[in-house]
Amino acid sequence: YEERRSEGVGAPQPSTSPSDGKKFNCALIKDLRVWCHHRDAKWELGKIQSVSGDVTHVKSSNGKVLAVPTENILPANPDVLDGVSDLIQLSYLNEPSVIQNLQYRYSRDMIYTKAGPILVALNPYKEVSLHGSDLIAAYRQKRLIDNPHVFAMADTAYSEMMRDGKKQSIIVSGESGSGKTETAKFAMQYLAAVGGGSGIEEEVLQTNLILESFGNAKTLRNDNSSRFGKLIEINFSKAGKICGAEIQTCKHVVSRVVQRAIGERSYHVFYQLCAGAPIHLKEKLNLKAANEYEYLKQSNCLTITDIDDAKRFHMLTEALDIVKICKEDQENAFAMLATVLWLGNIGFSVIDEENHVEVDMSEGVTNAAKLMGCKVSDLMMTLSTRTLQTGSENVIQKLTLSQAIDTRDALAKSLYASLFDWLVGQLNKSLEVGDYYAGKSISILDIYGFEYFHRNGFEQLCINYANERLQQHINQHFFKLGREEYSQNGMDWTNVDFVDNMECLELFEKKQIGLLSLLDEVSALPKATDMTFANKLKQNLSSNACFKAEKGGAFRICHFAGEVLYNTIGFLEKNKDSHHSDYIELLSSCSCQLPQLFASRMHNQVSPFLKLNGATQQQSVGTNFKDQLFKLMEQLERTSPHFIRCIKPNGQHLPGLYEHDLVLQQLRCCGILEVVRMSKLGYPSWMTHQQFTERYGFFLSRNVASQDPLSVSVNILEHFSVPPDTYQVGYTKIFFRSGQIASLEEVRHRTL
Ligand code: ADP
Ligand code: MG
Repeated sequence: YEERRSEGVGAPQPSTSPSDGKKFNCALIKDLRVWCHHRDAKWELGKIQSVSGDVTHVKSSNGKVLAVPTENILPANPDVLDGVSDLIQLSYLNEPSVIQNLQYRYSRDMIYTKAGPILVALNPYKEVSLHGSDLIAAYRQKRLIDNPHVFAMADTAYSEMMRDGKKQSIIVSGESGSGKTETAKFAMQYLAAVGGGSGIEEEVLQTNLILESFGNAKTLRNDNSSRFGKLIEINFSKAGKICGAEIQTCKHVVSRVVQRAIGERSYHVFYQLCAGAPIHLKEKLNLKAANEYEYLKQSNCLTITDIDDAKRFHMLTEALDIVKICKEDQENAFAMLATVLWLGNIGFSVIDEENHVEVDMSEGVTNAAKLMGCKVSDLMMTLSTRTLQTGSENVIQKLTLSQAIDTRDALAKSLYASLFDWLVGQLNKSLEVGDYYAGKSISILDIYGFEYFHRNGFEQLCINYANERLQQHINQHFFKLGREEYSQNGMDWTNVDFVDNMECLELFEKKQIGLLSLLDEVSALPKATDMTFANKLKQNLSSNACFKAEKGGAFRICHFAGEVLYNTIGFLEKNKDSHHSDYIELLSSCSCQLPQLFASRMHNQVSPFLKLNGATQQQSVGTNFKDQLFKLMEQLERTSPHFIRCIKPNGQHLPGLYEHDLVLQQLRCCGILEVVRMSKLGYPSWMTHQQFTERYGFFLSRNVASQDPLSVSVNILEHFSVPPDTYQVGYTKIFFRSGQIASLEEVRHRTL
């Protein structure tokens, strides 16, 4: 297959000349369009005027002539390639060219661009008229094939699911505030339009609103920041109609309920409830305005610009109605929210020199007890004492002020976490599938994005760890598997550089001496403090290149997306999340349904071994988080993935503003350029010979089944005059360049 055919399926691939490299070695010709940068300034476009030794004179687009070291010059693409829809089409794939290409499109409201197999989505921070039903229709009819779009990607996933009967997934990644949640919703909207009809699609869509209410909050990065990871698997019938869905969440660190940074909010639903509950509910729950609750007012932020919490509450109850959560359950859930709020208003008085406390009689304690359905005195007792089992006797011990506050906050957090889990369970019941067809589902993953603040704690650590795992999954798909597939098929693998984040993952996950294990180990020590933990990290992790101990209990981690400075303050407390046995007992004694239910679930979570020892320490938050993350990843591994990378064009959340360095850093950290480069060089799509024959061998006579599959494939390739540089034939599989399958599909479509 050495000969080249000029005609045939598909356009010739762009050249993969040495121009991709960092250094520009081609002859520097006068008037050549180039990128240059001078000292630390950003890349500028210009034309070469003259070259003398190591210095090149470049006339920049504003007419100035710059003397630039020749090594700071990179080739620019001809202007016919300005704003190409797939970066793979760029003749010169260097950073300034990519940055400019995306900017060219962004400034024209073309927020989507393909980077080989990945869809890049830039957050417009404004309404762009790209998501209407007219566009959904256009993509369904495949009228806009050359315009990258989340709809196009959802359509591909749907078509492949229908074609191959294989589970698909759409994986949305990106930093916090980059647009993941919005983009994931557009994907769901598209699927609802394509697979709708039964009415259940509306229920599926409404789960977004409900879970955002309970699981999202305003942070310093994003007014609607997802604080939980979500994988929703949408199930389809044999005919391709939506017939149900299942939501899996990755637990979040719920400490936000009781404490968070100034300027941030707790979960939306608290403010929505306070602002929007109808009179009868307000009376029933003794609800007050948000600024009367300690848990809400402590971070100096009660409202979000342009958001009407009361209206959102109304939308929330409507959505709950649509997903068939009955009014009684809704009110029970709201009662639990009010309980949490009232718990926060409970105060304590110190009664002796040892700092022991009593609970103050207040509105807080009476309302909380009433809403849970327990005696006020029982609640007061639970919050100010603990029962220790010594042999056959129970000893009652008074709590100190800080212990009492911890117990109160722990109860509030457990109630909220249990409520969230219960809610997800209710949604899953409502969306449960009747007529499920194996292999027909599309999962959409939307997790909390990588984040770094001025101060970073346990919550950021968990979130960034999850992103590290996700990036590994992406690397695995594009780089590692590629290599294995190639070598198993006796083919040559062009080694591609990519940022492997395995070392950083090991830092977290290594048995016994990984960060999460060390945290558990220290958490179990009776007298340990956050400093003990910090020192432990220093002792054990300093050999890992991704870790750096800092002064005062702080440490740095080199994440794939950047370096983050963490402070260990609060780590032990947040990792514990122990269910105090006393409050489990209190909850199980409550007359209301939800506290009882929560108590029995908490009881089951306590491991039998620990129960034997009289303790009720459940699995730590960190380890639990890791387990849930692994479950999510396992589910994803059973699907054919489609990747969307969301990019935040500026840090101010403003429309029209495009910050080169910020965009570049995001492109770099997830290896986008490497993926494109590999797609240009490599053969990212493949099929087994059998699959290939079944799909494209429709013109062959029936007796081909007896021939060996490889020869049949070759036969088909010749029949369609597929250009030889667009495929490689392996022992069991046939590999194609990016875009080639689409061309074959087109021919098949035309022929059939
Ligand atoms: P993430 O989930 O990545 O943290 P979000 O999806 O919540 O980010 O997006 C943050 C904000 O950016 C949204 O609240 C919205 O204002 C804006 N945004 C994101 N994507 C779009 C879009 N496609 N069109 C308009 N605005 C968007
Ligand atoms: Mg989000």
